[in-house]
Amino acid sequence: MAEILVLVDHVDGAVRKPTLELLTLARRLGEPSAVFLGRGADAATTVLGEFGARKVYVVDAPEVDAYLVVPAVDAMTRIARTAEPAAILVPSSRDGKEIAARLAVRLDSGLITDAVDVHPGESGPVTEQSAFAATYLVKAHVTEGAAIITVKPNATTPEPAPAAPEVEHVTVEFSAAATGVTVLSRTPREKSDRPGLTEADIVVSGGRGVNGAENFALIERVADALGAAVGASRAAVDSGWYPHSHQVGQTGTQVSPQLYLAAGISGAIQHRAGMQTSRTIVAVNKDEEAPIFDLVDHGVVGDLFKVLPQLADEIARRKG
Ligand code: FAD
Repeated sequence: MAEILVLVDHVDGAVRKPTLELLTLARRLGEPSAVFLGRGADAATTVLGEFGARKVYVVDAPEVDAYLVVPAVDAMTRIARTAEPAAILVPSSRDGKEIAARLAVRLDSGLITDAVDVHPGESGPVTEQSAFAATYLVKAHVTEGAAIITVKPNATTPEPAPAAPEVEHVTVEFSAAATGVTVLSRTPREKSDRPGLTEADIVVSGGRGVNGAENFALIERVADALGAAVGASRAAVDSGWYPHSHQVGQTGTQVSPQLYLAAGISGAIQHRAGMQTSRTIVAVNKDEEAPIFDLVDHGVVGDLFKVLPQLADEIARRKG
């Protein structure tokens, strides 16, 4: 069976959910092998095995944390040249896309970014991408080299398939380019009990209609009732009502959750570009002509200050 490499996204060995999704997709295409870069491989291997990794390549080199993405590209290149995989799956994060693009150049392979689904095809993996703000669903496959595919979070539900992975430690000779930019310090993100925006199953976002920083407490209340991440439109973050790191859209974060709830957001094309691939979209807007209603599965024409408190109360009541 063809080997499929999956680049592991982790924080000190804690494997992030998008990797488990990639392993689930990789099993459709062949035998998944995980590539683990950095510290914490022992803890990660157990989880990777639970989700079907037959092999785990480990590169535990200090360069991986000390420099930007090039050490990861060097390591992936080294492993891919030996393993000759049929495909390489990478999470569609900022780093992931940069690694994938550089890897495609090194391996002379075709690259597909931001896939929302992957299936086996006659000439290699066939991807689906959502294009032009989800107006088109594009099917594509790579015609040159091993298919390198970045996949958006929440493309599939992770399904366990326990395996006992063989662990192979790999030594990499890093290129001069790898050490060109040194990471001098890191600032941990403020701790929050809410899930991260890109990997959350549910995102609740507020826009200009929220009308003030203090009113974002209402968006947070609904988000917490649903166990969701909080998003915001650019109009809201530019007004200083919520941090820029929560902006959803073309120039913010692109999300693809199971459920996206937009409150007081008009649905401008740039906002849509960041959330249209969400599985179910719900909007609350007092203007029945708002463009967001062209997109929704369920729309509520109403004042968010009346609708959202009732929604939060009802969720709390049903949760008992
Ligand atoms: P508005 O368009 O002002 O809409 C507010 C909505 O709230 C209205 O529909 C109104 O009916 C409703 N409302 C008001 N009061 C209430 C109430 N009490 N109850 C219910 N509904 C109410 N935008 C992004 O979001 N993300 C991006 O990444 C992004 N990138 C951009 C990149 C470029 C190059 C450009 C030019 C623009 C970008 N924008 C982006 C901005 C985008 O064009 C819109 O201006 C922005 O999305 C509008 O935000 P909004 O929907 O919150 O505000």
